[in-house]
Amino acid sequence: MDYLPIFIAIKDRPAVVVGGGQVAHRKVEWLLAAQARVTVVAPRLDAELLRLVDGARLQHIAACFAAPQLHEAALVIAATDSADVNAAVAAAARVLRVPVNVVDSPELSSFIFPAIIDRSPVIVAVGSGGRAPLLVRSVRAQIEALLPAKLGALARFMGERRAAVKQALGASGRRPFWERIIGGAVGSQVLAGEENRADAAFAAELSVSAAPRALGEVYLIGAGPGDPDLLTLRAAQLLQQADVVLYDRLVSDAVLGRARRDAQRIFVGKEAGDPHRAQARIHELMIQHARAGLRVARLKGGDPFIFGRGGEEIEALAAAGIGYVVVPGITAALGAAAATGIPLTHRKFAHSVTFAAGHALDEDALDWDSLARPNHTVVFYMGVTHLSRIIARLRASGAGADHPAAIIERATLPEQRVLSGTLATLEGLAAAAGIAAPALLIVGEVATFAGSAQASATLNAITAPHEVTV
Ligand code: SAH
Repeated sequence: MDYLPIFIAIKDRPAVVVGGGQVAHRKVEWLLAAQARVTVVAPRLDAELLRLVDGARLQHIAACFAAPQLHEAALVIAATDSADVNAAVAAAARVLRVPVNVVDSPELSSFIFPAIIDRSPVIVAVGSGGRAPLLVRSVRAQIEALLPAKLGALARFMGERRAAVKQALGASGRRPFWERIIGGAVGSQVLAGEENRADAAFAAELSVSAAPRALGEVYLIGAGPGDPDLLTLRAAQLLQQADVVLYDRLVSDAVLGRARRDAQRIFVGKEAGDPHRAQARIHELMIQHARAGLRVARLKGGDPFIFGRGGEEIEALAAAGIGYVVVPGITAALGAAAATGIPLTHRKFAHSVTFAAGHALDEDALDWDSLARPNHTVVFYMGVTHLSRIIARLRASGAGADHPAAIIERATLPEQRVLSGTLATLEGLAAAAGIAAPALLIVGEVATFAGSAQASATLNAITAPHEVTV
């Protein structure tokens, strides 16, 4: 940022405008709107500006600029048509350490004016540091169109009731309450100019909200494969509401960054220690926080119900009598397929697809004969550490040495890597590349599409993956 955007409290403080023409007039009006006490310095004022002079809010010094006029000024604006006078104002202001704006001369100014969208008390300021004024105008026009005309009325309505809400509701209840006001009937009524109705609805909403709080709830949210843009809209909304976020190792920092800023974040990954104990702790944490009346986001990589133990977690919640919502996520297989251009099914090459747990290698856990069939795609999750055993099982069940296969490591993340080969070559490639979890193994004719030109071009534009295609 080249400038710090701030709002200056200028109410009842002295401000000086040097210049008496139209530009000065506009600046005087802004300062008066912000309730400053304004002195305008100019030998002559244009007629309209002269009419505003009232001796109280706006005084006129009918003289040329002189540095002592800036004495005590909280800020000064130079708006004459003489470059010399403007420069003299800037120089004097710097000596006296008074913030100065010289119209159309950012290099002489210590502050500049943004373009504003005024829905007082809501003000939106837009600037480009003087680089692209036309772009700023277009942005302002877009925001103007976006913001309801009565937004200011809503801000005042809320401001007048803040103290009452603070008294009635505890800290954790206020935020959801205000969110309901803004997004619900009360907000729409104020914006429609029906403040009386809104006032009654507000009182009703407040009394309901002040009743003793029920249990909190749990949102079991699929965080997708890593790229935060692959979160669902509902996931993003609930992440903004949750008071507590319990997250896994597979949840990327970028996704976690979408949670509410002040939400408590608790890592519950199962890296070390006893996995049963770790899962039990997750159940305890969800239940304990929900019982305290909090909204808990349980964020899981991919989709909660694909190799995510989501089933166990909802059983635990149901047994504890805690309400929950499941939000589906893009499972790693779908993220990896899209990011590498591998169509998991294809009219010519694959009529079915299986998602298999690559660590479930006990003799009968998987039907290897059907996985090894031609025209079928298998996506192995959690498989890279058992790559050689998986390949051996597929070969033993009839898959050929030249059967295509691909590995996608950290799919959809900036570090994504793709290896593509065959059942005969893939293991060597993976060892040479040092592939590590999280990674997926995709086996089947469609794996030859890995890193197809078009998909990687698009993806490069978004995430610039490093790709090793063989
Ligand atoms: N619920 C998750 C899967 C959890 S099992 C989902 O729906 O995606 C963990 C396995 O998922 C990892 O071992 C890996 O095989 C796979 N995985 C998760 N995220 C991945 C990613 N970004 N890239 C590649 N594989 C991933």
